[in-house]
Amino acid sequence: MSREDVLEIPVGARQDIAGFWHRVNTAPCEECGCPYDYSLDEVGVIWEAGENVEEDCLDATCDCHITPVAGLRFRLNFKERFTA
Ligand SMILES: [Zn+2]
Ligand SMILES: [Zn+2]
Repeated sequence: MSREDVLEIPVGARQDIAGFWHRVNTAPCEECGCPYDYSLDEVGVIWEAGENVEEDCLDATCDCHITPVAGLRFRLNFKERFTA
């Protein structure tokens, strides 16, 4: 099966919401199993799956899909900054 174009996720570096680049690694979400990225150089900065629901997702209503964090530190900060 040729899915190279679909699977070509830029692994290695991502930009946070403030524009800073972070080296990242990928891990499965504890709740639903979908992969999310986390920063290797700054603890707590993560990018969740959002609309990218995997076929074997255990819970499509997981927080990582409904209220995804993208380049932010923790959910509390996410809420704070998003109610601006
Ligand atoms: Zn999840
Ligand atoms: Zn999921």
